Amino acid sequence: MKRDYLIKPVINESYKQISYGSGVYLYDKDGKKYLDGSSGAVTCSLGHGVKEIIKAMNKQAEKVSFVYRSQFTTEPAEKLAETIAKLAPADLNWTFFVNSGSEATETAMKIAIQYWQERGQYRKTKILSRWMSYHGITIGALSLSGHTDRRYRFVPLLDENPVISPPYCYRCPYNESFPSCGLQCANELERAIKRIGKDHIAAFIAEPIVGAAGAAITPPDGYYEKIREVCDRHEVLFIADEVMTGIARTGKMFAIEHWNTRPDMIVLGKGLTAGYTPLAATVVSDRVMEPILSGSKQIMSGHTYSANPQSAATAQAVLDYMKDYSLTEAAREKGKYLLNKLQHLQTSSNMIGDIRGKGLLIGIEFISNFKNKQPFNKQMNVTNMIVKQAQLNGLLIYPSAAGIEGDSGDAVLIAPPLTITELEMDELVSLFKKTIKEIENQFGI
Ligand code: PLP
Repeated sequence: MKRDYLIKPVINESYKQISYGSGVYLYDKDGKKYLDGSSGAVTCSLGHGVKEIIKAMNKQAEKVSFVYRSQFTTEPAEKLAETIAKLAPADLNWTFFVNSGSEATETAMKIAIQYWQERGQYRKTKILSRWMSYHGITIGALSLSGHTDRRYRFVPLLDENPVISPPYCYRCPYNESFPSCGLQCANELERAIKRIGKDHIAAFIAEPIVGAAGAAITPPDGYYEKIREVCDRHEVLFIADEVMTGIARTGKMFAIEHWNTRPDMIVLGKGLTAGYTPLAATVVSDRVMEPILSGSKQIMSGHTYSANPQSAATAQAVLDYMKDYSLTEAAREKGKYLLNKLQHLQTSSNMIGDIRGKGLLIGIEFISNFKNKQPFNKQMNVTNMIVKQAQLNGLLIYPSAAGIEGDSGDAVLIAPPLTITELEMDELVSLFKKTIKEIENQFGI
């Protein structure tokens, strides 16, 4: 069939067709039930089929689903921008809506460059980032992403933006431990800025807690405070990429709030609409907007679907729901429960090296040797084996990466909807335990 011909080259043959979702569960067309232990791609924070969200979506669809952003504004888009300004820390009061996390990263890159141009500094165009990071799949956002697997095909098109190590205490690049390390990984930023020259650097971008390319690598206290201080001293903007960590996932509305740090911009996506429609955003501070507003007054970024009223109304309903059900606090408390249960599992496992994260963003790193933390051989494809086996057992988890040599080691993310109950978390842990035991038996370990 023609349709098959088009779909097969990009879609794995073993993919099942999902018929519907309800709460933390998805059901495929053969009636098999899956516990969504990763909220899809860490996106469906409220779970599936939430009535309040569907009602709000229908209500907006009856009014208007599309207007062209250069001709009109809409009530849902204006209201959402106001809500985000109230939720965002410090003076982050301006929101530009786009459709995906990648576009939101690109928008932040452009605004950073424009900020310095408006101040007459035309050479400040480079954005620095970290290895073991993911900021999106478009060429600009991929340039920033220190995710070697995703970069390698496009290297000729990419800038060399990742320049420093992540704050990866489990495998400290300096062979030190916190706090005696003196946060050398943060000091690296200063060395990179000096090497490249601050006159060329517009901004530094980082995921407050690493997602796809580092399985919830969580920095030690003081790390972001130091990063902020280095950025300020060298006149470099700081962008927090909260596409995965934002909107309550880690037990704070924005993960950067776990540390006493004010970013100049925040990049949002995923949890903003909890997967009900596509919407992402770049949230910008008054300080960054000031020269733009008194200069060219325009940002050269915008897509046909930017600020789509249908998506804006959906995001508003999601944020209202989160407030009504105190889901930020729930993520914090449930995260402690789940982390504790998973750490208990670690004591009887022969391949779980590290478990880390905050709130309901939990990373699990697998190793083949406990003495030297040796990762499994990349050819064994252990992450894929675990994710597939979990799916067979009716549990969905998210493939991530780890390992000191870039991102070649094995890891997964566990990040269920923030609405998950204690009983469902027990079920998640029991399905995960079964999966790990089966894989260990297969390896004879
Ligand atoms: N930034 C981070 C931290 C992400 O995790 C992702 C996606 O996983 C992106 C950006 C890109 O978002 P999208 O897939 O919506 O383009």
